[in-house]
Amino acid sequence: MKSDHKIHKYELVELGSKGYKVYKCKLPNCRHFIQKELAVGRLSLCNGVCNSEVIITRDMVTRELKVPLCDDCREKRKNRRALVSAIKGGLHDNSN
Ligand SMILES: [Zn+2]
Ligand SMILES: [Zn+2]
Repeated sequence: MKSDHKIHKYELVELGSKGYKVYKCKLPNCRHFIQKELAVGRLSLCNGVCNSEVIITRDMVTRELKVPLCDDCREKRKNRRALVSAIKGGLHDNSN
């Protein structure tokens, strides 16, 4: 089946038992995947809420980022994580 989208939405997955990592498209009806190293410089859809286009950088690949995110969504996720850990830290302090 031919895919109906121009830009794939990549996600890092392991292939087989050897843990060989590839970027695979997670959109329905698409079985496209690409060797991790070859994904550098390719366009992916953002895995956040915005669905904008993101270029997969060498940095993402080196750090084995699970899903490509645009700057906005990455900031949002980072802030949320910081908030969660701040709340946890607060709770921890209260129980002390
Ligand atoms: Zn695709
Ligand atoms: Zn985004």
